[in-house]
Amino acid sequence: MSVSRRQMLAAGAITGAALAGPAAAQTIGNPDQPPQGLINTTKTPRSPVDPGPQNPALYNQFPSAYTPPPTDIGDLPLFWASFNDAPRRIQAGGWARQVTQSDFQASEEISGVNMRLAAGGVRELHWHQAAEWGYVSYGECRVTVIDLEGRASVSDTKAGDLWYFPAGFPHSLQGLGPDGCEFILCFDSGKQSEYNTLLVTDWMAHTPLDILAQNFGVAPDTFKNMYTHDLWIYQGELPGPLAADQAAVRSAQGLPPNPFTFSLGSGPIAKQNPGGTVQIADSQNFKAAKTIAAALVTLKPGGLREMHWHPNADEWQYYVKGTAQMGVFNTGPKSVTNDFKAGDIGYIPRNLGHYIKNTGPVDLVFLEVFRADKYEDISLVDWLAHTPPAMVAAHFNIPVQQIAKFPNTDSAVRPPLAS
Ligand code: MN
Ligand code: MN
Repeated sequence: MSVSRRQMLAAGAITGAALAGPAAAQTIGNPDQPPQGLINTTKTPRSPVDPGPQNPALYNQFPSAYTPPPTDIGDLPLFWASFNDAPRRIQAGGWARQVTQSDFQASEEISGVNMRLAAGGVRELHWHQAAEWGYVSYGECRVTVIDLEGRASVSDTKAGDLWYFPAGFPHSLQGLGPDGCEFILCFDSGKQSEYNTLLVTDWMAHTPLDILAQNFGVAPDTFKNMYTHDLWIYQGELPGPLAADQAAVRSAQGLPPNPFTFSLGSGPIAKQNPGGTVQIADSQNFKAAKTIAAALVTLKPGGLREMHWHPNADEWQYYVKGTAQMGVFNTGPKSVTNDFKAGDIGYIPRNLGHYIKNTGPVDLVFLEVFRADKYEDISLVDWLAHTPPAMVAAHFNIPVQQIAKFPNTDSAVRPPLAS
């Protein structure tokens, strides 16, 4: 693009101070040309000022967006969303809210639901086009499901537990005592909506009475008090003992060979160091979960989920507690940083590099969820530690002896540097 002398003069009239000196040189940590970031405005202190209008309560949530690190460059499709600002559909018995691809364009492979069931509250018997993966964040929940062989399952789940229902498998959920439950659902399609499920009450109400009578082998007036609308969520009575429900549903075919529930929170730790822990649930240990793999990550204050990427699926994140900063990298180069709090959602397309840092004074806990049968990641540290050292040294202009100090394992999390 050619720039005329007139345009140069006009630009100079506006930004004369900045153009008066030589352009700032690119430096480590401030690599962009033209320069980007607050550190480039020391000679023009009015440059970063935001005279408003402002909504401080909102923008104070996003220090990394308001004042990006000078290494940020370019733009990426928004990778932040939240249940915190999603409208709740509230009914007697509980509520739900959701973030699908309609709300969050990047989330092509996964849509998310946040649901609460009061003690006795029931999410009615239903099924849907996508597989459903659940994570209990609070309380206890009774889960019913039946498989293709007619093998029925009833199980109770607690905070930290998972469930998985293949697409089309009919199921129900009910909050237990003393205070019901809250949970996160992930569907293995960004388009699946919690408000677009096949409800058993809808079907029954919209089937002729003579067909119902023949189907169930009872007189038509058996159905005379049936509801003419669906229930979706309703307030029910607390169920009896688990063993009684299990006995009531048992079929001659026995139990499903692989449980539809799994304890992630109290399950084995896959990776651990002073920076935190990673627990993994995929089809290798949670055999029923054929299309959703997940990791529960706990980062200690100052801990880092190290620089990595996932070759087999996009990553859908749910922030359970704490505060985080995430940086995402793509070709271009593009590098964008944003901030996350409890109830927020992150989304990283497959193979894009990223890290997550605990920026708060307490543990950061978040879920990594993938539309995949197996959890897979590639660690930058692990890769470079197992590449010929002279080649790595040449890439970064670092003495080869320093390369030898890089950790030589993929521990997934890193503690703060010793000061
Ligand atoms: Mn469902
Ligand atoms: Mn990741």
